Amino acid sequence: MKRLDHPLLSPSLGSHKALTSFHFGQPGSGLKIYIQASLHAEELPGMLVAHHLRARLQDFEAAGALQGEIVLVPAANPIGLAQRLDHKPMGRFEQDTSENFNRHYPDLARAVAPVLTGTLTDDAAANVRRVRRAIGDYLTQWEPDTELQSLRRTLLQLSHDADYMLDLHCDCEGVLHFYTEEPCWPQMVELAHFLGSQAILLAKNSGNLPIDECLSSVWWQLAETLAAAGHSQPLPQGCCSTTIELRGELDVTHAWARQDAQAICHWLQFIGVLACDKPPAVPPALCPATPLAGSQTLHARTPGVVVFAVEPGATLKTGDLVAEVINPLADTTERVTAGVDGVFYARIRDRYITAGGELGKIAGSQAFRTGALLGA
Ligand SMILES: [Zn+2]
Repeated sequence: MKRLDHPLLSPSLGSHKALTSFHFGQPGSGLKIYIQASLHAEELPGMLVAHHLRARLQDFEAAGALQGEIVLVPAANPIGLAQRLDHKPMGRFEQDTSENFNRHYPDLARAVAPVLTGTLTDDAAANVRRVRRAIGDYLTQWEPDTELQSLRRTLLQLSHDADYMLDLHCDCEGVLHFYTEEPCWPQMVELAHFLGSQAILLAKNSGNLPIDECLSSVWWQLAETLAAAGHSQPLPQGCCSTTIELRGELDVTHAWARQDAQAICHWLQFIGVLACDKPPAVPPALCPATPLAGSQTLHARTPGVVVFAVEPGATLKTGDLVAEVINPLADTTERVTAGVDGVFYARIRDRYITAGGELGKIAGSQAFRTGALLGA
């Protein structure tokens, strides 16, 4: 294992932060896997998974059982980790710009398409290498002028040539759920099942460019551009990425983290990055994959105290009571019910809601939403 510290752009006199990455195995010796945690800095279950994973990977590496390269970034957002307000962590939005740390990554397809014109051949593997080089060149010439942009660039420099990218997040309260783009899903099925995902949400460009989609969308977008222009050169999905929501913010326990690290190791064995006598069997699916556009976000119409009627993970039918919003001044109770059939996979952590506020999400099977599909 090798540790590397990457200095971020200094935003102010005397202020210096760095991103730390841990590198296992040999570049070029097999698949490259990139795993990061806590890009939303108050989402800590993934950071603990990374802690357990690091120890496991060191053991595998020492035993000579690593075939490929794994890059692990346990704390992907040193800027957000240090932000606090009124004694509370503030790790989702950068306080200077109010930008979400996991949005506004660059449109890599648009950035590299011009330099790829006429350079791809009938050799799919060579085309993948060519595109990765073009992305690497783009990132090298990108000169960030803020600390936030330098963090985005550093994360992409570490991950842009990975075959698989795992971004470990969590919800406020929730069960383990899994986001990926449709072109990645065939290669990601087993990982979702090893982890025991209770909702699997598929989209194709869900909007506002989170890092996982920045890394995966470049491939299918370039492939579609080639096909639309009548070119037949093959371009496979060179990076499959996922955002894994490791339950809720308070689900930070060694038991969960060991289980999740074990699931990732099983998947690494399954895809051959960790050697083993017999690849572990893929567990049965706990849910079907459903469209992110079919996920219903429940809102409160009125302000009040929230009393949930169901726990995360509950399977709901349309019309089932999800929560009551109680106004003790008007002595009224708003009943918030499921608008779709599906798994109630996440909910808010606070128990007071303002008018129009979000209460929770249900993974419905029928797409009905359009436009940007991710929350703020
Ligand atoms: Zn997150």
